[in-house]
Amino acid sequence: MARRTKIYEGKAKILYEGPEPGTIVQYFKDDATAFNAQKKDVIEGKGVLNNRLSEFFMTGLNQIGVPTHFIKRLNMREQLVRQCEIIPLEVIVRNFAAGSMAKRLGIEEGLQLPRPIVEYCYKDDKLGDPLVTEEHIAAFGWASQQDMDDILSLALRVNDFLSGVMMAVGIKLVDFKIEIGRVYDGDFQRLIIADEISPDSCRLWDIETGQKLDKDVFRRDLGSLTDAYTEVARRLGVMPKSSTPISKPTLIN
Ligand code: UDP
Repeated sequence: MARRTKIYEGKAKILYEGPEPGTIVQYFKDDATAFNAQKKDVIEGKGVLNNRLSEFFMTGLNQIGVPTHFIKRLNMREQLVRQCEIIPLEVIVRNFAAGSMAKRLGIEEGLQLPRPIVEYCYKDDKLGDPLVTEEHIAAFGWASQQDMDDILSLALRVNDFLSGVMMAVGIKLVDFKIEIGRVYDGDFQRLIIADEISPDSCRLWDIETGQKLDKDVFRRDLGSLTDAYTEVARRLGVMPKSSTPISKPTLIN
């Protein structure tokens, strides 16, 4: 069997050359990292769950006319996606104060924001993905003014879609991060949602109990990350019980 060409290996995913030009195979690993990879672990089954959840969200976005890189899921851990040029920004949308924003501004976690707040971080692990303003983005040429208008509109559409989908299953979308890619169609270029949308990149709280169902479970040692992600998948009807990853064989007495 021919070996595939690895294009890039990140913290949670590996990218391989796809079967056709302009495509990429995105492989979801079980590795979990937090605090810029200072905390690391392998969480059995996480990659399988994130592959299915990202497929679910990206498919829904494609169906409502928000373009994404997602083409199709290939197997338990891999999906075929469209190759794009990643804009070096993490686009964060917040509906409730949490995480770095709560800390930076001295706000209590959970405070509902008067309107969604969009933030941009420059993607650079060595610098710890620093928060930047549109001034930095324009001055350093990371994206044009037209790109920024498109990014804002995409981010807010993703926010409305995800908030509604999660609300319907009793989950509050506190915040999330997306990445944006540029694709070329002949003489035209446009922006699409890339990377992944999963509980690794969102904050999801149960509406009734406030229980955290996202990567904060790992960051803050709040219990089993697989259980939290499985609960999100179960509520969304994404992963039927029978296909949930079986972690270890157990002896039956
Ligand atoms: N986030 C992410 N990757 C990052 C940084 C943040 O997916 O490198 C997500 C994070 O899971 C949360 C949102 O973006 O849903 C806002 O994160 P925040 O800025 O509060 O940073 P954190 O507290 O996670 O360091």
